[in-house]
Amino acid sequence: MKNQSKYLSWIELSERAVKKNIAALSKAAGGKSLAISIKANAYGHGIEEICQLLSKQAAVEYVTVHSLEEAARARAAGWERRIMLLGPFQLNEAADVIELEVEPVIFELQQLKALHQRAAKKKTKVATHLKLETGTNRQGITEDELIKFSEAYKRSEWLQRPYGASTHFANIEDTTNHDYAQFQLNNFSRLISTMRSLGISPKIRHTASSAATILFDKTHFDMVRPGIAAYGCWPSKETYLSYRLLGGKNDLFEPVLSWKTRVTHLKKVAADSFVGYGCTYRTTSPTKLAILPIGYYDGFARELSNQAYVLIDGNRAPVRGRICMNLTMVDISDIKSVKLEDEVVLIGRSGDEAVTAESLASLYHSINYEVLARLSPSTPRMITV
Ligand SMILES: *Cc1c(COP(=O)(O)O)cnc(C)c1O
Repeated sequence: MKNQSKYLSWIELSERAVKKNIAALSKAAGGKSLAISIKANAYGHGIEEICQLLSKQAAVEYVTVHSLEEAARARAAGWERRIMLLGPFQLNEAADVIELEVEPVIFELQQLKALHQRAAKKKTKVATHLKLETGTNRQGITEDELIKFSEAYKRSEWLQRPYGASTHFANIEDTTNHDYAQFQLNNFSRLISTMRSLGISPKIRHTASSAATILFDKTHFDMVRPGIAAYGCWPSKETYLSYRLLGGKNDLFEPVLSWKTRVTHLKKVAADSFVGYGCTYRTTSPTKLAILPIGYYDGFARELSNQAYVLIDGNRAPVRGRICMNLTMVDISDIKSVKLEDEVVLIGRSGDEAVTAESLASLYHSINYEVLARLSPSTPRMITV
């Protein structure tokens, strides 16, 4: 591990947790290969460090990204296996798709044409996946449009047939009722049949995010595409409850990320003193505060003002007043012997206590995905065992 002592705030990534989560996902997927999402800076964990950790896990065949910029970062970090681009590329970026050996998921006909032109010039074959519209109504090709795509494939010796066909479920995380997922699954099967009859049957089919991988075997097909669970978080309370009701165990996943900082100032304030911008907190008795050198710039959401707590040596220290851009004040009146530069846990375990991305999310009507995605990319990341 890099020496953390020189940092005011840092993120630790547990190699053991990655290994455990990937093993759990691989088992849930019945040994099918895994395409792990590293979009949003690997859910705030850091693309470079996560690629390094995933490289050690043989079950991971692909990483999936939202942008070509993320794909370039994965390649620069030494990721040599397959990369799938879930999001768009601009038509003038077809050369980069080929250069980076990225497999785009196609949802616009013009993407195929741009790729064909570039591939023909370079005389290289390009693997592509088709995104099928089954009911999420986001990115996706409808049944009527498939014929045009089949013609584009057949005209090009460089594109050949699509390597993969995919879809994405709208309503698995937010409910314990899987009727809508079943409706989408039926649509997916129909569209795959249409692809076959048009002579563009895909080599692999993939549909499952984390929730579908964990709960819904019928979605596994040839490969699964989880994200959040690889980082040790449940996609939602509903997913967790559904899993437990099916008899699943509590500790299937382990959070990979801990976020830490240190006390950089200690002060005593009298009773009836206001703390921070807007005077939103007023002490009722003499109070000891610790000032932390992190704020909403670092991803400690301002919505957590007067709501969250941090952990110091296994004790809760509540946030007082508004979270500032770079500073946060916490109450340590009831904690003995807090010293300057003591370690503070913002997300993670300390003694018997834990702050999770979920617990923070619940304080501001958000989800663990957003808490993690908002962590600043500029905070140093380091791998621990
Ligand atoms: C983000 C994403 C996933 C992974 O979702 P999780 O809920 O994090 O498992 C899978 N497929 C697509 C298309 C995505 O955009």
